[in-house]
Amino acid sequence: MNIKEGLTYDDVLLLPQYSEIKNRATISLESYLGDLLFKLPIIASPMDTITTSPMAAAMDEAGGLGIIHRYNSIDIQCNHVESLPADAMVGAAIGTSGDYLERATALVNAGVTLLCIDVAHGHHILMKEALRKLRIVLGNKVHIMAGNVATLEGYNDLVDWGADSVRCNIGGGSICSTRIQTGHGVPGFQTILDCAQGRHPVPIIADGGIRSAGDIVKALAAGADFVMLGSLLAGTDETPGDIINTRKGKCKAYRGMASKNAQVEWRGKTASLEGIATTVPCQGPVHAVLATLERGVRSGFSYSGASTLEELQTKAEFIRQTVSGQVESSTHILRR
Ligand code: IMP
Repeated sequence: MNIKEGLTYDDVLLLPQYSEIKNRATISLESYLGDLLFKLPIIASPMDTITTSPMAAAMDEAGGLGIIHRYNSIDIQCNHVESLPADAMVGAAIGTSGDYLERATALVNAGVTLLCIDVAHGHHILMKEALRKLRIVLGNKVHIMAGNVATLEGYNDLVDWGADSVRCNIGGGSICSTRIQTGHGVPGFQTILDCAQGRHPVPIIADGGIRSAGDIVKALAAGADFVMLGSLLAGTDETPGDIINTRKGKCKAYRGMASKNAQVEWRGKTASLEGIATTVPCQGPVHAVLATLERGVRSGFSYSGASTLEELQTKAEFIRQTVSGQVESSTHILRR
């Protein structure tokens, strides 16, 4: 058996390159989902501890996108969409079974900008059938994001089945235990490299496992058009849920949608447990978190001498680092 190697974000670095960028404000971070233009290539994850209308509104204002989670009634999800200003861009998640056709139709009528078919294993016959039925019911006018997949075959199949953009990465999320529980997945960086060999120009969303601005730059340079974030946005003012006083100070809940308590709450029973629930420190307003990330990403583009995403992807040269390289790459005084 030929066993392929899978690299993740920590295994690689981008080679610094000659740069003519004198002012990072001139760098464009613009990226497209079909004909929808975004100033910031960051999407807030459709999780019940991340995205309802406050997060979607803040993401829109920052130039990115929020996707309203689907673990609620159709009415509640539509209310979140309808409560946003008329001109805001907002996504909403649906599944591949149960009420998904009714939900999709209601969300489109509520004015959603795009739909996201949000399932853990997207390279699946239910996804193929859902995409076919959604196209029959909704036609081609609504952008449909679909996922998740971890392989080039998965990406290409979803494109062939009609997805307008594809969420890539299985098992890399901060709250995810899919790889532990099932033995399946592909390291996140490898997933993006592999999927970027596929049927472009269907955009790639690098989803899960992004821990820093540096990871965002690596994902974009490897071929992603957007990153999708959960943990980096968790604990901000705009996430749903109350502030909890803990020994760590003021916190908010952050949980995988396949964690035990999320499953019990949303479907009253548990299937395979492939996520965990935790609390994370409160982080204040999301615009401040995004501004910090954006400054890091702009600096990253500058190190590659890139003034656009396309230029970053064309110029990017990765180097693989050793474990001692990873240690050196971290703030290693903290290890002494
Ligand atoms: P993070 O940004 O590393 O925290 O990862 C967030 C991503 O994890 C989401 O966008 C989903 O793709 C994924 N995810 C959410 N809930 C679960 C779960 O319970 N198990 C596995 N993956 C999950």
